[in-house]
Amino acid sequence: MKKEESLQDKMFNEIREKKIFDRAQTYAYEYLDSVFERNIYPTEQALLSLKNFEEEFPNEGTAAADVIDMLNKYGSPATVARLGGRYFGFVIGSALPVGLAAKNLATYWDQTGAMQVTAPITAKLEMVVEGWLKNIFGLPESTVAGFVTGTSAATFCGLAAARYRLLKRMGWDVNERGLADAPKVRIVTGSHAHSTVTKAIAMLGFGKKNIEWVDVDEQGRMITELIPPLDEHTILVLQAGNVNGGSFDPFDKIWERIKNSNAWIHIDGAFGLWAAVSDKLSHLTRGIEHANSWAVDGHKTLNTPYDCGIVLCRDKEAITSALHMEGSYIVQGKDRDGMYFTPDMSQRARAIELWAILKYLGKKQISELVYNMHLRAVQFADELKSIPGFKVLNDVVFNQVLVCCESDEITDLTIARIQDLRECWVGGAAWQGKRVIRISVCSWATTEDDVKRSVNSFKTALKEVMSQYVVR
Ligand SMILES: *Cc1c(COP(=O)(O)O)cnc(C)c1O
Repeated sequence: MKKEESLQDKMFNEIREKKIFDRAQTYAYEYLDSVFERNIYPTEQALLSLKNFEEEFPNEGTAAADVIDMLNKYGSPATVARLGGRYFGFVIGSALPVGLAAKNLATYWDQTGAMQVTAPITAKLEMVVEGWLKNIFGLPESTVAGFVTGTSAATFCGLAAARYRLLKRMGWDVNERGLADAPKVRIVTGSHAHSTVTKAIAMLGFGKKNIEWVDVDEQGRMITELIPPLDEHTILVLQAGNVNGGSFDPFDKIWERIKNSNAWIHIDGAFGLWAAVSDKLSHLTRGIEHANSWAVDGHKTLNTPYDCGIVLCRDKEAITSALHMEGSYIVQGKDRDGMYFTPDMSQRARAIELWAILKYLGKKQISELVYNMHLRAVQFADELKSIPGFKVLNDVVFNQVLVCCESDEITDLTIARIQDLRECWVGGAAWQGKRVIRISVCSWATTEDDVKRSVNSFKTALKEVMSQYVVR
């Protein structure tokens, strides 16, 4: 009688034969072949079919090929085609081909970036990329980088470093003594700060109620004159790239006002910090080098695959103390252990794709990539301005465009109709008391033609809304 194949043997065979890898790869290639032309958002049918995943947890396993088939059959059609050039929702970004390919290769390596000893290749690439980023953004020599999931985590780490440093200066070791009875740390930020900043403030125990809010101007920039007197017990959180209108706080001017305060400055530059790379846009980031910590994403403007954020901090002792951990089994690397720069121990080796993309593009082409996004945003705004019924509300300084229709109701109906048409995808937001359509150009793949097609879809949507619209 033939012995039944053990689970282990089955999996050795799967590796040896590579059939399931080929299968997944074939589906992936089919996806890439259609991604630029397919509907941007899944159809209702595709969304309904997701129900097929709702099943009782099976007692028996399923053949690997069937698992991959099911994922492809119901998963692929239900994806948002953000790799292409007509997804303008949130600030999401596409992914560069070389980044996908590098990630694909690294998938089979399955490295974890916790320690140098667990993944020497990751440690090396993290060190190289840290140096390159310092150069690209023009940051101080002492700056170190932590590779995290996104800007939410990066801001959390930057503010954790700030908390450690400011309290230490007041003779208080927050790691040992906690926050109860600790001296007060003040937090000052603009009223348009991203909600992940307030989230980090809450998670770190500062208390959202303790935030000293500074008013912003009509573009969402902090008004320098309204910043209260700061001191060495204060964290000031600034913004490079307003999540709606794309504006930048006036870093240079703010620095002139507060430079003698010894406050800790953190900059949320999730997508906007990359403006520093373009000669034509770097006026927006002038003065960022005075900050103490910076948060930036690879997965937005730079178009790395998702799960790629970076915290940069000029105070290595502060950040590594804030995120430190110990254990008898930990092996300290000679050069770098990623886990001392992030909240995680085990972590995805995200520096791999980041390195691949930086190496592929070089400084010149990153600048070209970023500036092209700006040009397409300007084109979007210019074309919409020429259509009666649309009004552009912001100065398009970077990649964000805010548009409204005659009334909030018409704006919301138009957004819903644009989404239904599935030619492109945009979301809504509130801006200066109005409902707006929020356009974010952040894909390498967006062409002039993509913008034209999208503007046409806007036009069609508005026309359809108006033809059915009854003034109530
Ligand atoms: C997207 C964004 C964040 C959050 O970044 P994640 O990578 O999604 O965690 C923070 N701030 C700004 C300005 C953003 O645009």
